Amino acid sequence: MDVVDPTTGERIDSYDDHTERDVDDAIARADSAFEDWRDRPLREREALLASAADVLRENIEEYASTMTREMGKPIEQARSEVEKCAWVCDHYAEHASAYLQPEGHASPPGADVQTVYEPLGPVLAVMPWNFPLWQVFRFAAPYLTAGNVGLLKHASNVPGCALAIEEVFAEAGYPEDVFQSLLIPSDLVDGVVADDRVKAATVTGSGPAGRAVASKAGAELKKTVLELGGSDPFVVLDDADLDAAVETGAWARNLNGGQSCIAAKRFVVHTDVYDDFLDAFVDEVESYTVGDPMDEETDMGPQARQDLVEDLHGQVEASVDAGATVETGGEPIDREGSFYAPTVLTDVPEGCPADSEELFGPVAAVWEVDDEDAAVRRANDTQFGLGASVWTEDRERGERVARRIDAGCVYVNQLVKSDPRVPFGGVGASGYGRELAGAGIREFVNRKTLWVE
Ligand code: NDP
Repeated sequence: MDVVDPTTGERIDSYDDHTERDVDDAIARADSAFEDWRDRPLREREALLASAADVLRENIEEYASTMTREMGKPIEQARSEVEKCAWVCDHYAEHASAYLQPEGHASPPGADVQTVYEPLGPVLAVMPWNFPLWQVFRFAAPYLTAGNVGLLKHASNVPGCALAIEEVFAEAGYPEDVFQSLLIPSDLVDGVVADDRVKAATVTGSGPAGRAVASKAGAELKKTVLELGGSDPFVVLDDADLDAAVETGAWARNLNGGQSCIAAKRFVVHTDVYDDFLDAFVDEVESYTVGDPMDEETDMGPQARQDLVEDLHGQVEASVDAGATVETGGEPIDREGSFYAPTVLTDVPEGCPADSEELFGPVAAVWEVDDEDAAVRRANDTQFGLGASVWTEDRERGERVARRIDAGCVYVNQLVKSDPRVPFGGVGASGYGRELAGAGIREFVNRKTLWVE
């Protein structure tokens, strides 16, 4: 596996892939580690997770710079990501026992009936490069603490991150093989899913990756959780606080170089405020500092891989050919590395990529709508259903509109964000299942009914 620094285009590291034999050994070790790990008291697993949070905080600079080197995230955002990983560890270290508390049921006379939550075994996580630490800790913190063991197949452009995560758990004192990284290409994933010792799988990434893993897992009758991206609407109503909507909206589109599943991608703006919004939005986007992600002042670094820049530009060109107008940006930046200019499109015709596909980079599409009903129709006109954001000074109106939007979460006067305390996941082409909070930790457990009399 070669790692190419997207800031320079130069190869900076190279790792040997694991072979099928290595993978088989890793699964065998995972299976055997599970036998001991599942029987450890939950309190002990919580304490180890708290130690993992400490290791993350102690090594924040090292882990942040590994991310930035491998996928181009601005260093300041990389540090925040490490802190967020520590937060999710703290969260489950504190709350796992409560989330996994047996649930009592109305019992017939003479019987005690309850649901208890037991781990499943080795769980495979297929993870992407965009939040290379956070996506993995979002999986590992709850599921390991529930007593499962983890096998990570990370994206091929972030092997250093995959190994750094393995190191976090080792340094925190986890027993060997409770968490392992498999450095494998995606064509070895089917074999892992099919292995009898692997009990479930979770995927964060593109639709094709999710469908491939879910099909295989379905054939093997194994549970999956899928988080497959989105094309989140950002709805600005006529009574919105425009300054806040512009500033937050532009950031919600462009943070992490626009490479986020929950980025605001389709801006739906009431006609009464459309012109003011658009002018200010374009100004805001043009004010970003784009450049070396190791520089503290940088707002936006490169895209994570050159092929992703080409794909993104293909989507922009096809949208412009179909009739979209470029208000700013619209092309790769002429410099070394994989940089794309922050872009705003208007007049976006139905069915073109900016309308119907996920644009995984700094490209915002803005629509003008006549009223609230039209805003809801436009927001829901998508195959995806991950998140949405609604802007209005009237909280009741905000909640009313939010309830009409088909998505896994809707935020009013706030950008969509994941938070360890709150369930996270989508509907439709954005996938299924929930991560985080109590709902997340209970996805990969056997909800066992115990009837005792
Ligand atoms: P992919 O979905 O291809 O990669 C995500 C993960 O899935 C990687 O670990 C990848 O491995 C693996 N994978 C890919 N195909 C398969 C398969 N058939 N079977 C098993 N595992 C597979 O994303 P890309 O990096 O190619 O990005 C393409 C697009 O995906 C983006 O433009 C964006 O639209 C979307 N995406 C969404 C993300 C999200 O957060 N929801 C995150 C990343 C991408 P490998 O790297 O070895 O190919």
